[in-house]
Amino acid sequence: MTRQKKGKSDNTESLHDSYPTQKSDINDLFDKISSTEESTSVGLVIQSDPCLTPTYLTYKAYERMVGYAIRYANKNLSKNKWREVYGILTGSIEDEKRVIVKDAIPVCVGDRAGVELEPIHYVDISQIDAATYERAIENKNTDFIIGWWHTHPGFSFFFSEVDKITHLGYQVPNPFAIGLIFDHCEKEEKSLGVAALRLKKPERGILSTHRIVELQYELDKKKINQKINKKIELINKNIGKVEKELVYIEDTLINKGLKQLKKDYGLILVPKEDITLTDEEVEKIELINKSYVWPDSDSFKDSYQVPKFREKVENRLKEFEDNLIKIKESNQLNNIESQRKKFKEKIKNMLDKPKELHDRITDEFNKHIEIISPYFDYLDTNERKLIENFEEKMSEYSDILVNLNKRAEEILDT
Ligand SMILES: [Zn+2]
Repeated sequence: MTRQKKGKSDNTESLHDSYPTQKSDINDLFDKISSTEESTSVGLVIQSDPCLTPTYLTYKAYERMVGYAIRYANKNLSKNKWREVYGILTGSIEDEKRVIVKDAIPVCVGDRAGVELEPIHYVDISQIDAATYERAIENKNTDFIIGWWHTHPGFSFFFSEVDKITHLGYQVPNPFAIGLIFDHCEKEEKSLGVAALRLKKPERGILSTHRIVELQYELDKKKINQKINKKIELINKNIGKVEKELVYIEDTLINKGLKQLKKDYGLILVPKEDITLTDEEVEKIELINKSYVWPDSDSFKDSYQVPKFREKVENRLKEFEDNLIKIKESNQLNNIESQRKKFKEKIKNMLDKPKELHDRITDEFNKHIEIISPYFDYLDTNERKLIENFEEKMSEYSDILVNLNKRAEEILDT
C-alpha cells in the first residue's frame, strides 16, 4: 500500500467515457477493429486491451526488487519490524503486445502499512526519468518509466485506495503502465511472490478495480528461485555490514573528512544561501570553478563565497605572474631563475597539503566502497545519492587541484 502526502496533485478525477460520435471516430474504431487479433465467442472482433497486455519481467529487475524488499521484510525478521518499500520500473513496450520490465529501481522505504512519498522522492523519480531518457538515447532504445513497484509484506496482491491513486498517475498517461507488487510471504517453491497489476478502467478513477496481469519471466521459475534464494541469503548475511559502511561514509568521510577539506583547503565557490541563481549564473560559476582564471570583474563574489584557501592560492598565482612579468620587462633576467625556483617551492607546499588530505580520504573511501559495491543495486535513492554526491564532490575537488597545478606550470613557463 502506498500513502501520498496531502496536497499532492493526483489523477483521481474521473474522465468522461468517450464513445465515437463523429464520423471520423467511427472510422478510427473501424480501423482498430479490423486490425485486432482477439475475437469473442460470438464472433465479434474486439480491440486488444492495453490493460490485458502481459508483462515480461527480466531476472535483473526481479532480483533488484527482491534484493531491496527483503532488507525490510523477510522470514528472519520479526513481523512487527516489516516495512513496505517503493520503487520505479523502467523498460519498454514491445509492439504494444508486451511490457518489458528491465529494471526495478529502489526509491524509498516506508512503514508497516505503507510508503509515504515525500516531495524529495518526486524529485528523485524525475531524476530517474531523466537518466533513463539519457541512457535510452545513448543505447538507442525506447526505455522509459514503465510503472512502479512496491511491497505488501504478508498482505498479498491488490491495489489499496491509495495504490489506485498512485497507479492512476502512471496508467492515465500510459495505458500500458504496470504496477508490480512483491510479497515475500507469497514466495514459495512454485511462486515468485510477485504479481503485475493494472486498473481495469482507469477512466473511472479510484472506482476502477484492479486486474492481475499475466507475468512472463526470463527464466523458468525453478531456476529463478534457485538464483534468488542464493542472493537473498547473501544479502541477509551482508547487508548489516553494508549499512554500517554507509554510516561510516556519512559520519566520518563526509561529515568530518570532506568538511575538514572544505574548511582548511576550500577550493570550490559556494553560492550564498539567500541568493537564487539563474541557469546562466550557475553555468558561469561552473566555468569559473573549472577555468581557474579569475574573471576581471569580481561581481560573482556578490553571490558566491570564495573559500579563503582558494583566494590565497589565486592571489599567490597572480602575484607571481605579475612579478615575473615585471622582472622580464626590466630585463633582470638573471633574477628570473631564482624567482621561479622560489615560486615553485611555495606553490608546491601550498597545493600538496590539500592533495594529501584529499587522497587520504579517497583511499579510505575506496576501502569502504569495495564492501558496498556488490550490494549497490539494493540501496535506495538516499543511499545511492550519498555515495554519488560524495564521489562527485571529491572528483570536482581533485579536478580543481589538477587545474591549479597546471596554471602554476603555465605561469612558470611565462
Ligand atoms: Zn499497496
